[in-house]
Amino acid sequence: MAHHSIYLKNLNKKYKDSPPELILRMTIEEIFKNKIAYVCSFGTESAIILHMISQIDRNFPVILINTNFLFKETIEYKNYLIQKLELKNCKEIFPNSYDLVKNDKDGNLWKSNPDSCCNIRKVIPLKKELKNYQAWISGRKSYHKGERKFLKIFEFLNQKVVVNPLASVKKSFVESYFDLHKIKKHPLFTKGYLSIGCMNCTIKSSNVNDPRSGRWTDNIKTECGIHYSYNK
Ligand code: SF4
Repeated sequence: MAHHSIYLKNLNKKYKDSPPELILRMTIEEIFKNKIAYVCSFGTESAIILHMISQIDRNFPVILINTNFLFKETIEYKNYLIQKLELKNCKEIFPNSYDLVKNDKDGNLWKSNPDSCCNIRKVIPLKKELKNYQAWISGRKSYHKGERKFLKIFEFLNQKVVVNPLASVKKSFVESYFDLHKIKKHPLFTKGYLSIGCMNCTIKSSNVNDPRSGRWTDNIKTECGIHYSYNK
């Protein structure tokens, strides 16, 4: 995309104070019409964007990166949300079996080299799937701290635009959304997990003000790689 930085700067300026519903609608119906998908973890807060999508277009593509290490509760929650919100276009993508046999035959790579594990199980499958799109939607929020603190609504990453409609929402917005729309919480959220990924790499959050404190606790890792530049 030519001159993408000026283009995105203008979009960020234009939508800086817009509510997330409007950002999402404009993104789906106009700015990236038919060229965008939602990459969804079906984690604790995914229901918010999914619900907004169900109000705009139930055939909008939703992609779940299934690493083969997801909690069964996540799959159950996915099925519940798809049914409740009547979503018609959800797709699961899986790691390439050749990559798994070659690099992670025993399924233990996450212990010795989590970056490589995430690469095989998340980054590569997503990169392949995103060949079909110009842009993708992510549910990240800036109050989740860490590297997410300076999050912009529109970013450019690995030749794709990433749209973060919830970038500047407050915690109270997220908390009230579920009651307001009568949506159940992820079953593990009620058990103390504030941010949920793979079974191996998620434990209960130790700090309620930092929802991602339960991810990769043994390691300095805070992100799984899908939000990094490949060239880094
Ligand atoms: S989160 Fe853990 S188990 Fe999941 S892909 Fe990354 S390193 Fe592997």
